[in-house]
Amino acid sequence: MRILTVVGNRPQFIKAAAVSGPLRERHEEVLVHTGQHHDDALSRIFFSELGLARPDRELGVSGGSNSSQTARMLAALEPLLADLAPDAVLVYGDTNSTLAGALAAAQARIPVVHVEAGMRSFDRAMPEELNRVLSDHIAELLLCSSETAAANLRAESAAGVAVVVGDVMVDVALRLQPAARSEAAVPREHGLEPGSYLLLTAHRAGNVDDQDRLAALVELIAALPAPVLLPLHPRTAARLEQFGLQAALRAIPGLVLCEPLGYLEFSALLCQARAVVTDSGGVQKEAYLAGVPCVTLRASTEWVETVELGWNTLVDLDADDALAALERTPPAERPALYGDGHAAERCVEAIDELAGRLAGAPA
Ligand code: UDP
Repeated sequence: MRILTVVGNRPQFIKAAAVSGPLRERHEEVLVHTGQHHDDALSRIFFSELGLARPDRELGVSGGSNSSQTARMLAALEPLLADLAPDAVLVYGDTNSTLAGALAAAQARIPVVHVEAGMRSFDRAMPEELNRVLSDHIAELLLCSSETAAANLRAESAAGVAVVVGDVMVDVALRLQPAARSEAAVPREHGLEPGSYLLLTAHRAGNVDDQDRLAALVELIAALPAPVLLPLHPRTAARLEQFGLQAALRAIPGLVLCEPLGYLEFSALLCQARAVVTDSGGVQKEAYLAGVPCVTLRASTEWVETVELGWNTLVDLDADDALAALERTPPAERPALYGDGHAAERCVEAIDELAGRLAGAPA
């Protein structure tokens, strides 16, 4: 089959890096980069570090509101799909690029494959939740990271075929974390001793786009035990500047700020952190895999198993709850969640089956 893959942001490059290799052994892939994340720190470095092929097409769509960005992507994808006539469109996760890819394909009556289908926070105020629910109900093939995700799809009576394949980000993490764990030079380059620091990431719209919430986040960071390393996401940096909170952040003693990092450097820092504090989905999952306790700056999560097992604590932006969570002793048990590192191969097998179904379907 000719498969057109739509990617656009950091975690999607990581997911595509897992799937693209095995996919290209059996199918033709055309990689389309929407431009949602376009700078070197959030985009280019992931292609070079993780061996992802250069995009075949770049749509150059970034910025603006969610609706306007999605609309511009749709407008750019429509002629591309007509021109390239793929047999299927592959989308990842829950971004505007995911929804635009899925909707443009469905309007052109091209089957959609959704990787990381069925994840739910049950919080419709999150743009990501809207993107994932809508994409799931458009998709023909729903590739799930967990049984929980498949159960969510059943509960919603999603029409596509759901297959639990495991999580493709886990494939990448399991491959690279063993080496990352012993890279003691990486934290030291940031002036940090392995095992002694907190790694922090924050960029969710719900935390940084609202001035009061962002101020509460800065206060929470000030309350955390130093040292804390914060690779600052450009969205967060822009809002700190807009709301005049940059100086307050920079004045926090023991806070080490840096640019967003490449996957390998970030993994080394994550594996050797005392704990992770984050509002990222992917980072919660990677902390669990690394056996590093996680404190999540949200009131809900899609990765519910990490919370149920006691490795992850949801604190929203409550500084006292965050401090209490950091005092908890990590559980003794850490069973394998989200697959065994071979999710990408199972994705391709499920895509092969889809190809068989499509070939057998009446025209
Ligand atoms: N990540 C990275 N460099 C950083 C911060 C995160 O490589 O400075 C990686 C991280 O290892 C994870 C992914 O980016 O694989 C998570 O992306 P993000 O937090 O942007 O998105 P989310 O998972 O919340 O959708």
